[in-house]
Amino acid sequence: MTCPRCLYDHAETVTAAPEGGAAVWEVRQCPRCWYAWRSTEAPARTSAEHFPAEHRLTPEAIDAAPELPAVPPLLPGVPEPAAAPGEDRGATA
Ligand SMILES: [Zn+2]
Repeated sequence: MTCPRCLYDHAETVTAAPEGGAAVWEVRQCPRCWYAWRSTEAPARTSAEHFPAEHRLTPEAIDAAPELPAVPPLLPGVPEPAAAPGEDRGATA
């Protein structure tokens, strides 16, 4: 499957939402530019043909992209979010 943003041909399905035994949507992700989309989103988000040209990425632009900013620490008094199912935070018992 082709990534709508960078046109890489190896985007993958990372999960699907089952409903009554049949998947009603899938989440897909590109391992090159990390763009992720749900299969049921508008063609401007899911289709390379309709993806906005101003938001496209080339391999050169990906290589030159700055590092993703780190997530800052929580503010004092803000409770830690609950762990996602299966998430291992390295808790000590
Ligand atoms: Zn991509």
